[in-house]
Amino acid sequence: MDTDLVAALDIGGTKIAGALVDGDGTLLVRAQRPTPAREGAEAVMGAVDEVLGELTASPLWARAGSAGIGSAGPVDAGAGTVSPVNVPGWRGFPLVERVQKTIGGLPVALVGDGVAMTAAEHWLGAARGYDNALCLVVSTGVGGGLVLGGSLHPGPSGNAGHIGHISVDLDGDPCPCGARGCVERIASGPNIARRALADGWLPGPDGDATAAAVAAAARAGDPVATASYERAAQALAAGIAATATLVEIDIAVIGGGVAGAGDVLFTPLRRSLADYATLSFVRGLTVAPAVMGTDAGLVGAAAAAIALR
Ligand SMILES: [Zn+2]
Repeated sequence: MDTDLVAALDIGGTKIAGALVDGDGTLLVRAQRPTPAREGAEAVMGAVDEVLGELTASPLWARAGSAGIGSAGPVDAGAGTVSPVNVPGWRGFPLVERVQKTIGGLPVALVGDGVAMTAAEHWLGAARGYDNALCLVVSTGVGGGLVLGGSLHPGPSGNAGHIGHISVDLDGDPCPCGARGCVERIASGPNIARRALADGWLPGPDGDATAAAVAAAARAGDPVATASYERAAQALAAGIAATATLVEIDIAVIGGGVAGAGDVLFTPLRRSLADYATLSFVRGLTVAPAVMGTDAGLVGAAAAAIALR
């Protein structure tokens, strides 16, 4: 039988999603479980096996020729292991070997979730047609990935493009990664909310103190909320400009929950980018919102699996 499908897995701190995907990126069969992130390694693997069990039970499974995994990082693509920050039970966990065992030895590709999102946006989304792109996921953390010379550039370990931990504030706040002033420490959703609260922003009567609530306040004209988004935009712009100067990219695609703030983020981001991306070869850089939505991880994992064929 023709193996024209691939299996895709998207592993995050809150959910584990799986799908059988065709060569056009259409998700034909889906399965999902919550991630038992606070439990041990085998409990988390059990949830992965349940998702895979639903896929292998499908009559379409016989058409699957390879599998791709996009996982919260860090990942080590060479070793086939993952150590997601938000899944403490998995440290150096041999995910590729375990998945391969469950699916009868098919070849398995592993990439970080930022790289997976990038693969999806390049294949079918906002970076389609661009040979050189940086894609960012700005949500609880800040991740990313690179397309260089027309191809996905995961790097030797599968983490290349991890813009969240580029330092843009040399003497800035300590970051959980051990460095200071990282893009993520300034631009992630929790940090946007934290800064707004510290500077005197007060949540509304519903008590919602998330970055989305800060965005709503900024839209309504609150100056502290606006300033927190401007600071996040400045950090992202500095990181994007550094990346563009280093490897020459034509487009920066921004997704994740924080990108849902729309103009509250994108207007100051484009303004700040003009301040930092000043040389002739980076000045034309385009900034665009991501379009692949919550399926980006699965579609990107499928792209990684297709690349194995
Ligand atoms: Zn950091």
